[in-house]
Amino acid sequence: MVSDTYCPIPWIFQGVRSNGDIRVCCQANISEGKGLILKEDGSSFNASRDLLVEARNAKMIKDLRASMVKGEWSPVCVRCEQEEKAGLRSRRDYENEQWHLEENLIQKHTDSDGFIDTAIFPVEYYDLRFGNLCNLACRMCGPTDSSAWYKDYVALTGQEFFHDSSGKVPLTKKDNRWISGSEYDWHSEDHFWNEISKSFSGIKHIYMAGGEPLLIERHYEFLQKCIDENIAKNIILEYNTNLTVLPDRVLKQWESFKQVRVGASIDGYGSVIEYQRYPIKWTNVLENLKKLNNQPENILGWLAYTVTVYNVFHITDFIEWKITNAELSNINRTKRRSVITHHVAHNPKHLNIRVLPEHLKGELTAKFDNYSKNVLQRSLPDHVKDEVIRILKSVTKYMNQEDYHREFWPQFVRYTSSLDKLRDQSLTQVCPEFIPFFKE
Ligand code: SF4
Repeated sequence: MVSDTYCPIPWIFQGVRSNGDIRVCCQANISEGKGLILKEDGSSFNASRDLLVEARNAKMIKDLRASMVKGEWSPVCVRCEQEEKAGLRSRRDYENEQWHLEENLIQKHTDSDGFIDTAIFPVEYYDLRFGNLCNLACRMCGPTDSSAWYKDYVALTGQEFFHDSSGKVPLTKKDNRWISGSEYDWHSEDHFWNEISKSFSGIKHIYMAGGEPLLIERHYEFLQKCIDENIAKNIILEYNTNLTVLPDRVLKQWESFKQVRVGASIDGYGSVIEYQRYPIKWTNVLENLKKLNNQPENILGWLAYTVTVYNVFHITDFIEWKITNAELSNINRTKRRSVITHHVAHNPKHLNIRVLPEHLKGELTAKFDNYSKNVLQRSLPDHVKDEVIRILKSVTKYMNQEDYHREFWPQFVRYTSSLDKLRDQSLTQVCPEFIPFFKE
């Protein structure tokens, strides 16, 4: 490997945010500059108007490459750095398993300031967020990633605008519905499609999230273009989807691709997911999950469990449900992802599991310990046992590593109470451990 901080992302990848701004990768979102690739004048490159290739040698990404070659952690990569130090698998680890660029090539064709020849390192991997159109308003999300959030956002904050990386986004009411302008329709511009078609033949992997990608009409057109140009067979598609929709037409299109990886944002069953991912209906999503389970070999599905303060007590029940559910045996079927695919929600901080009071962290640690011991004694495949233990250990380690309680707990209580009222929901019914804190 080039160095201990090396990651292939800055050499072969390009990411587009839901508003079209180009960024290093989604992991960099928690860094100070949100990982945005900026021009000399401080504005960000945007896929609706700029040349995609120009963003690849902007100063910020050159600096990032240069620090990786030197083996230093760039502040842009703070999330991967923190996760690795907490014993979690970072995206950097994951990408290094996927992409094996020749060390010599990198050393030879990366200038000391991080400049690269883009013909030698073409973009092979895109991350495209086609706007913020979504039908869910998950508690850890917000208006920048979900248009379904607008109504509750205005009610909670009293503000008829929100901030995104491009600046202030005004909201207006039309036909009793809050709407934004055209900020999130960047993908309707022909400019972007002309730009991406320049690198069409070299594309190996496309990751799509939203909003909800399966609700975006242009996404289907894009898949069709890949099929029509006969490049689908070379491409791995990867999704983050809430799986509330799974139309037959997309299942048909997926048959033409090399592989389709579907990360279903399912982080609880029954009332737990209905609370965290309002207004999802568990029965509907379970039906789609079973449909996903029964797809051809080239379709690989997994349960993407976002660990928040709302569902952390539920994770062992969910794991138990998964490992004993024969109807979903094709979901998380690889050895490396043989149970669930979890990641912790770093932000917002008031929903981060580090916000919990000491005694609840202690209860969780004991609960995870007991469950791990129980799993060890059962007749389950070794790789499943190992995976369960690894998941629970990493969550425990992350949770206990830092304490956000004093700073963010009041915000957690305020936010939860206000949203519960607006949505006619109750955290204490979903998670009784919180009863002492929500007595009123
Ligand atoms: S190390 Fe992490 S944050 Fe940095 S570019 Fe790679 S994946 Fe993104």
